[in-house]
Amino acid sequence: MKDLEFDTKAIREGYRTTQEQEHSEAIFLTSSFVFDSAEQAANRFSKEEPGNIYARFTNPTVDAFEKKLAALEGAQACSATSSGMAAIFATIMALLKSGDHIVASRDMFGTSIVLLNTIISKFNIEVSFVDLSDLSAWENSVQSNTKLFLLETPSNPLGKVVDITELNKISKANNILLAIDNAALTPALQRPIALGADIVIHSATKYIDGQGRCLAGAVLSSEDIIEQVHGFIRTTGPSLSAFNAWIVLKGLDTLSLRMKAHCENALKLAIWLEKQEQVEKVHYLGLKSHPHHQLAKLQQLGFGGIVSFEVKGGKEKAFKVINATETISITANLGDAKSTITHPASTTHGRLTDEEKLKANISDGLIRVSVGLEDINDVIDDINRGLSV
Ligand SMILES: *Cc1c(COP(=O)(O)O)cnc(C)c1O
Repeated sequence: MKDLEFDTKAIREGYRTTQEQEHSEAIFLTSSFVFDSAEQAANRFSKEEPGNIYARFTNPTVDAFEKKLAALEGAQACSATSSGMAAIFATIMALLKSGDHIVASRDMFGTSIVLLNTIISKFNIEVSFVDLSDLSAWENSVQSNTKLFLLETPSNPLGKVVDITELNKISKANNILLAIDNAALTPALQRPIALGADIVIHSATKYIDGQGRCLAGAVLSSEDIIEQVHGFIRTTGPSLSAFNAWIVLKGLDTLSLRMKAHCENALKLAIWLEKQEQVEKVHYLGLKSHPHHQLAKLQQLGFGGIVSFEVKGGKEKAFKVINATETISITANLGDAKSTITHPASTTHGRLTDEEKLKANISDGLIRVSVGLEDINDVIDDINRGLSV
């Protein structure tokens, strides 16, 4: 059969019905499954016969989500997790051991950095941090015990990008696994495995759900790697619940349309912001003024929904703009149909020292907007309220 197009897979892949012939996938809210006989139970446990056993490691709703997401990312297999952080932790714990070394991007989700610095470090796994876009820094950080490159591209909030194809050459030459957290773009806008990445990690909490309803995560890779990750999840328990799997499964149906709309709205906001006198600088990959615009255009299918901008007048003015909003939600979350606004220097990046903030370009006047699906003119009016006074 001809391989289906992305938008068709997003709706049809992994689709199954029970004997009730329901059209929308069922939620299997059950912790365990029964067997016809003692023999069948024995065969299921010994894996001689495929089938469900216990929801920590098998559930049809979770399985439907895993199959669909794997098809969209172009991965052989997927293992769903209870959250994005569980996906990152499971990947590291399943594939690395004491004495190994990770090279990680400095520009990652704050909790990912905390995970590496406070939890992973307890297991005698060494971590070096590098500038995301600096290929020679990645290369120079490789040690004989390096097992994993871990990063997000584009970064949040400034939209720095690394050339995945070039980075893959370095990782392959050194027998290192390349893992990319693709939460910011989703497979609708970027497919890292096609560019050479070994592993894709998701916080499905963000755009895959897309409506801020639940936590979910996923790891995608080869059958062999996912078997190891799934083994870790089965044994330690950060499994995705059937109910949350159903929510993110339904989220995938509309992912492509929503991502296009997020991109369109974000570009309109960014273009408007660039014309505002009170705005010092706009960081959006879709703008020609962004230093990584060309690279993003080559390796991404869209520029995403995150727009950051620096206002003249530092923290005081930034707070004024945020506090003047009436429609946009003041929250550090992102990837929602609702637009959200936050001040990175005092929230998501509040743990950094002044020197670290300077190095990461997180200025006091910086505001991040996760552009939602409202009419963009209302979002613009909302930001203009505090900006223009
Ligand atoms: C939110 C987020 C995470 C963590 O995901 P949770 O589902 O909140 O655990 C990891 N990576 C990125 C890029 C994120 O935005």
